[in-house]
Amino acid sequence: MTDILRMSNLYAPTLKEDPADADIASHRLLLRAGMIRKTASGVYTFLPLGYRVLTKIEDIVREEMDAIGSQEIMMPALQPAELWHESGRWDDYGPELMRLNDRHDHGFCLGPTHEELITALVRNELRSYKQLPCTLYQIQVKFRDEIRPRFGLLRSREFIMKDAYSFNADQESLQRTYDDMSRAYGIICDRCGLAYYPVEADPGQIGGSVTTEFMALAESGEAELVHCPCGYAANTEAGECQCAPTTYEVPALEKVSTPGVHTIEDLAKFLGIPESATVKALSGQDAEERLVVLFVPGDHELNELKAVREVPGFQLLTDEQMEGFGLHKGSMGPVGLPEGARIVADRSLQAVPQWVVGANEEGYHYVGARPGEDFAVDAWADLCVVAPGDACPECGKPLQGARGIEVSQVFQLGDKYSKAMGATFADEEGNEVPFTMGCYGVGISRTLAAIVEQHNDEHGIAWPLSVAPAHVCIVPLTVGDDLVQPEAERIARELVGIGFEVAIDDRDERAGVKFADADLIGWPLQVVVGKRGLANGTVEIKLRRTGEKKEVALDALTDLLGFAHRHKVATSPAGVGRFDALFN
Ligand code: ATP
Ligand code: MG
Repeated sequence: MTDILRMSNLYAPTLKEDPADADIASHRLLLRAGMIRKTASGVYTFLPLGYRVLTKIEDIVREEMDAIGSQEIMMPALQPAELWHESGRWDDYGPELMRLNDRHDHGFCLGPTHEELITALVRNELRSYKQLPCTLYQIQVKFRDEIRPRFGLLRSREFIMKDAYSFNADQESLQRTYDDMSRAYGIICDRCGLAYYPVEADPGQIGGSVTTEFMALAESGEAELVHCPCGYAANTEAGECQCAPTTYEVPALEKVSTPGVHTIEDLAKFLGIPESATVKALSGQDAEERLVVLFVPGDHELNELKAVREVPGFQLLTDEQMEGFGLHKGSMGPVGLPEGARIVADRSLQAVPQWVVGANEEGYHYVGARPGEDFAVDAWADLCVVAPGDACPECGKPLQGARGIEVSQVFQLGDKYSKAMGATFADEEGNEVPFTMGCYGVGISRTLAAIVEQHNDEHGIAWPLSVAPAHVCIVPLTVGDDLVQPEAERIARELVGIGFEVAIDDRDERAGVKFADADLIGWPLQVVVGKRGLANGTVEIKLRRTGEKKEVALDALTDLLGFAHRHKVATSPAGVGRFDALFN
């Protein structure tokens, strides 16, 4: 941008009050700062300032993709249903897929992701191992009819994603591309000023097995994480659980009357033991509708994804189904289960010689129930949701907890799509082999919101320099003044001249209004030009991030800021601090 951003005609309607339905900082502040507007549930318009930030994030992503040799393309959002039938996802994807018919009654969807389209794109023309690896990406609008669109841009139904897809000859080559992408994703987070963890994740719906999520740390994040100073981090959905249940030892198996006890908390209190010394039972059925009862330490939760991995088709029983099997909710246990019930227990319970469990009888529990003696465990498995305090699977130290926003994810897909859709290439021996594929997504609009989640205070947004809608805002305190206005304009031009993006609040407004809006919008640096200062040959600069202020001699200002700019303030993460250096 070489032009000066003029607040007098900028379309940035700011709001004094908090919008009613916006309950997290990014949603609230992006609305209040006039950066986005809601069009429908989960559907947003980007106004000029919001769009400038979005474009900057896109540019950072573009640079990092280009740097690892990924080539930009643009695919359609409108995708023919046939391709989704080929992959099998037309049926599998469920109601999140926005489906429509054209006037000839041909089925289409609005793309939530583009594996099908891109596999179909390359399958006839990417033919030889000599052309591999090949990585293509696009920055495009995506559609997902989310069951609960919320938090503004964080979970919307129409959003901007960078999606890349790699076509590799084999696993080794895929691993190299995956590593390059993972590194690039880390750099993208850094450059956007995001504090983040790359975490082990569950592949979920998209397929494949190896995957990493990049989690921007935020209390408002929907994801729960565990992390360790040794560098290990995982989504609790996926992380391996190494918990340490305790044993309540008694001389012999004993049935205890526990009137009114239905929860682990009640049971632990009733017996005066820690919850970790109790064992929780969860009943479900497998794909063949056979009864399977899972056991986990009382102070841990069952991870249903792990349950399904261990017991294909596993589904928890409803209260009605439990009654059907003759089970007592709140006092289930391994002793005296119905004939044929399978018992699968968390492997941590192998170290617990006596269990405190339900007695399969209303109002009774067992203490001292011994696996191998009083009942048989059919299988041991990792079944629990990992929790803060559990041992790190890599170094054994206690894990710490955090919440995060998934801003991006990399996947190794293998040949799931290439096989289903017949996308092959000729290898060195002339054999037709399906591509080994990877896919890599950055939520551009979600990243924008995540940045605000991490960079705000009670006054508004405080953009990192790298993505700010402009670097500096000049605030003349009086407009139409013979001295102040022309001097503000001159400073603005000079700063543009040395490469800054500059806004000027040339509105005929009270100083208080301008200050409030500047803080709300979040320009990294404000230069306040007033009559009194000019009389002394000074202006005031204010660092938005810390609120620090400083008088600077007019004739030193350009040099001072120029110095900061030459140190590439706008692109390096360390550069976020460069304006700070002006205040040392
Ligand atoms: P989530 O688990 O949050 O629903 P996802 O894992 O389904 O997301 P991916 O398929 O991995 O999403 O998509 C790549 C990226 O697109 C995500 O990392 C996220 O940043 C972004 N994204 C996904 N869904 C949404 C959405 N509803 N709104 C905004 N961004 C989204
Ligand atoms: Mg994801």
